[in-house]
Amino acid sequence: MAQIQFNNVVKRYGSGPKANQVIHGVSAQVDDGEFVVIVGPSGCGKSTLLRMVAGLEEITEGEISIGERVVNDLEPSERDIAMVFQNYALYPHMSVFDNMAYGLKIKKVPEGDIRARVDKAAAILELGGLLQRKPRELSGGQRQRVAMGRAIVRQPQVFLFDEPLSNLDAKLRAQTRLEIEKLHRELGITSLFVTHDQVEAMTLAERMIVMNAGRMEQFGTPDEVYHRP
Ligand code: ADP
Ligand code: ADP
Repeated sequence: MAQIQFNNVVKRYGSGPKANQVIHGVSAQVDDGEFVVIVGPSGCGKSTLLRMVAGLEEITEGEISIGERVVNDLEPSERDIAMVFQNYALYPHMSVFDNMAYGLKIKKVPEGDIRARVDKAAAILELGGLLQRKPRELSGGQRQRVAMGRAIVRQPQVFLFDEPLSNLDAKLRAQTRLEIEKLHRELGITSLFVTHDQVEAMTLAERMIVMNAGRMEQFGTPDEVYHRP
């Protein structure tokens, strides 16, 4: 079970009279296996919300839980999440295999396990024939898939996507979007996806959280959000 719960979550940057409150009491429940998009204009707090789930920002007030666990006090590495960022920095001197395996090696996952996890991710992402290549020998789309592979091999309960499509040209964006949809169909991992692009949100979301100025204005299916009187 990996639902994500936001319970009256508040975020302030800084403290005292100069504190800047950027999240104003967000409560929501993302269901197990659901793909939820957080959408809203630049500066509305989307990324802050995601980073609090990841443990990259402290939660000022309220609680976030993943599955049964309140994560407020957990380190990023103790949370059952994997994050896919806008810039997919791969290690240039390492093979595709080693790029995907790196985090697992550090965590001392047994060698055979690593092999199996990387092979499985490579099969899903159609990278099977490319495992010995270096990043510079790959197309942009293939590099993107390696970056997703790094997230998949962690076998997380939750995927967090931070505007992963926004720096891509139109063709690669469409291709990567399909890839993310396929991934969700095959693995069914609870996902939070941040974007400022409404079309992207509508296309990908099972439900969407519409943010404005640090507040959750709507939470529903694309149909509910866009056809509300
Ligand atoms: P979005 O992802 O929707 O563009 P952010 O979550 O990045 O919005 O930012 C929300 C607000 O918080 C903005 O006003 C931004 O300037 C502010 N903010 C973000 N990060 C910091 C920080 N580290 N320190 C102070 N203010 C920040
Ligand atoms: P380590 O095991 O030393 O933490 P990793 O490379 O696995 O080394 O990760 C470094 C830090 O970044 C850890 O806190 C880890 O949980 C986090 N991390 C690495 N990759 C991801 C990812 N794709 N999503 C979320 N967190 C990650």
